[in-house]
Amino acid sequence: MDKIIDTIFDTSQFNVIAGPCSIEDYDTLYETALELKNRGIRMIRGGAYKLRTSVHSFRGLGDAGVMHLANVGKELDLVTVSEVTQIDKVEFMAENIDILVVGTRNMHNYPLLELLGKIDKPIILKRGIAATYDEWLAAAEYIIESGNDRVIFCERGIRTFEPETRYTLDISAISVMKTKSQLPVIIDPSHAAGSRDLVPSLAFAAIAAGADGLMIESQIKPDDGICDAKQTIDPVVLSQILDAVPELRLHLSRVSL
Ligand code: PEP
Ligand code: MN
Repeated sequence: MDKIIDTIFDTSQFNVIAGPCSIEDYDTLYETALELKNRGIRMIRGGAYKLRTSVHSFRGLGDAGVMHLANVGKELDLVTVSEVTQIDKVEFMAENIDILVVGTRNMHNYPLLELLGKIDKPIILKRGIAATYDEWLAAAEYIIESGNDRVIFCERGIRTFEPETRYTLDISAISVMKTKSQLPVIIDPSHAAGSRDLVPSLAFAAIAAGADGLMIESQIKPDDGICDAKQTIDPVVLSQILDAVPELRLHLSRVSL
């Protein structure tokens, strides 16, 4: 596949997006972002509108969270990544955030996808928890046909019969979606795993299977996270995972099976 060089998301590189599940306050986000930046991360994630299963859970800071992320991004010169959950926030988010994410719950939200086709930002399209490859591809086409071909697939685990992990990471998705499309594929091991001890091995599997990048939940004091603390890793652990990337990629580039 010809490499797609995007000014924000460059598939000639291995793209690492890291940060907290949700933006909790400016200072915590800044400290996490600084720590990640010092460890070589250039893309910071954080959710402002959280679609939680329980209405009683923390549902994010909303617009204020978006602005915290935008300001931290500017301050530290980091690419910002955040989930857009509704049509009436697309314009606001496109003005303030560099890469917009469609979360698993919205993969089938076709009016949202069509609107994202009209903006000039890369879109990370997460796989629906029960979506087939072709349904996922069809969702991407809603964005592309509306005028935006800067779509990045993100496999984040699918619903299976196994309760031990939060979801089941489908590693085949990397090769299959790259064969079916010219689009990059990244892996979110955090939401698939549901627990931090599984994140390193899933991340290594993703790198070995040819993923174009990773999106990982990481923050300083991970146990203190309001949302998804159990699956959030310390930036030190993230660094250890990333140390293996160049050698693994180099080795794989020499093997063609
Ligand atoms: C997230 O990335 O914070 C998130 C909610 O992911 P997903 O949509 O995959 O559940
Ligand atoms: Mn999360």
